[in-house]
Amino acid sequence: MLPNDPLKRVLTVDLTRRSFSVEERTDLFKERLGGVGAGIRLLTEECPAGIDPFDPGNPIIFAVGPLVGHFPVASKTVALFKSPHTGELGESHAGGRSAVSIRLAGYGAIIIKGASTMPVYLVINEDGVFFRDASAIWGLRSSYTVGSVLRERETGRGTRTIMRIGRAGENLVTYSSVITETYRHFGRLGLGALFGSKKLKAIVIEGKQSLPVANKRTYRQVYDHLFKAATQTPLMKKYHELGTAMNVVPLNTIGGLPTRNLQSGTFEGAEAISGETMAANYLGRRIACAHCPVACIHLAALRTPYPNDPYFYKTNMLGYDHEPIFAAGSMLGIADAPDMLRVMDEIEILGLDVMSAGVCLAWATEAQQQGLITTRETDSLQFTFGDADAYIQALQRIISQPTDFYQALAHGVDYTAQIYGGEDFAMAFGRNEMPGYHTGPGAYAGYLSGARHSHLDNAGYSLDQKVIKAGEKPDAKTLALQLLEEERWRQVLASLVICLFARGVYSPELSCEALETIGISCSETGLEELGTAILREKYAFKQREGFDLTQSRIPRRIFETAAPWGPFEETYVREILNQYAQNL
Ligand code: SF4
Repeated sequence: MLPNDPLKRVLTVDLTRRSFSVEERTDLFKERLGGVGAGIRLLTEECPAGIDPFDPGNPIIFAVGPLVGHFPVASKTVALFKSPHTGELGESHAGGRSAVSIRLAGYGAIIIKGASTMPVYLVINEDGVFFRDASAIWGLRSSYTVGSVLRERETGRGTRTIMRIGRAGENLVTYSSVITETYRHFGRLGLGALFGSKKLKAIVIEGKQSLPVANKRTYRQVYDHLFKAATQTPLMKKYHELGTAMNVVPLNTIGGLPTRNLQSGTFEGAEAISGETMAANYLGRRIACAHCPVACIHLAALRTPYPNDPYFYKTNMLGYDHEPIFAAGSMLGIADAPDMLRVMDEIEILGLDVMSAGVCLAWATEAQQQGLITTRETDSLQFTFGDADAYIQALQRIISQPTDFYQALAHGVDYTAQIYGGEDFAMAFGRNEMPGYHTGPGAYAGYLSGARHSHLDNAGYSLDQKVIKAGEKPDAKTLALQLLEEERWRQVLASLVICLFARGVYSPELSCEALETIGISCSETGLEELGTAILREKYAFKQREGFDLTQSRIPRRIFETAAPWGPFEETYVREILNQYAQNL
């Protein structure tokens, strides 16, 4: 690492004492590059074993990587914490301007410790940390308004990130998100609730430093190579054109689109909410994270007429991808695109994770159909698949929690089903609500074994589709080893930190070349070993906090609903998990 690279600087903010300090951790960043590699080490050091996630002593770690600020599509920040949703490792990634702002403010990682006694937001820049009163924006109905107020109130337009929570985070809903730049999120595993528990409404980070390079000529060459690969080859074209929403129709065609709480893998309304339909009828514009030339973020224009004037509309721009479409569309049986967008909009206003929220409501609908809950529990609401209005009211009740049922639902579907029953169709894996892929055992073993219980950990859904195409089903060990290999390499990408959509661009060879230009020597073997070490350290943290892969709950529904893979058994999935654990 170049001696004047600020990546090694770790900023610690103590909300209890209203103080901050900066420490240089050259060895940590040399050994671990940054991102998740440095972050898991910091979390292990800072987070006391067995701590209650809402205890002020539970730290939040934000970490960026060496390529951030230097190279295209190196645009993500990794957040690590003990999750209030699962009780073990919390890890969430977001782009927007978050990563570039942290890096150019002169930090490689930021640790947030302690808790404030009154609502507060932080302003962080090269000069340090400023604690601001957030009483006036605490409790505002809409997260959009919080963003508007902070944009007006703080300087740094264009070079800053504004991370903030909505009322879900304030009210400690364990699947609350942190919203950054309105359209990007630290969505999964409840970072928003951790902000809320610390009375931390928002963090504004401004950065505009220059970063050093070792050799300007080779830096330029490698930069141009990566830029061309990202923009002039097919590697990322699909993300720009339709975005991940392109997956809706192909998944539905093979029977892998979770529909009506996974009662089916096909949805008769898939075309109406597909990437193609959204692009043709609702796409307002595309935007990009900072330092990304791809621009995969698709924004739909939702026009809502004012009640007494049919020609006067309020227009909201809403980011959509495959996952929000699955969660607020097919999983809830909603085939009307404006209705789906209204559900997404309410989720955004409140600051919830869209996947968890959609899966919770889908379970509640089926639980009510089966008589496990009644209108007494739901505060008079009657859920019917496809009824967006009832879902919007339910989302508001998850925040206000007028009954024991909503208090439970604010902890997720796994927690609620343990109280009310219906665990066989409570679609969570490792206590994290499922993503939008019902492809086969690779997907489910991947959700269960992945360190953050995300489809992005190891892309098991993609392995399933390769197997289906090849027509030959592997044994459990082969599948487990493939999941592991993918997850190990993704630890490297998440340490650099590269957007995972650019994984085809950043080969091991090119990643090493890029690192060389900024004074970091590495080898492809070294990177592979690093990925293995980071994944082991993440698992050590999970196990320290009580996670046991072999004891995971597997909802029966996944074996009952026809999948593209064909029938598969629980014993096969459990054997994949055993093999994964043995070969970790
Ligand atoms: S590809 Fe999309 S998500 Fe990834 S950095 Fe670019 S705009 Fe952000």
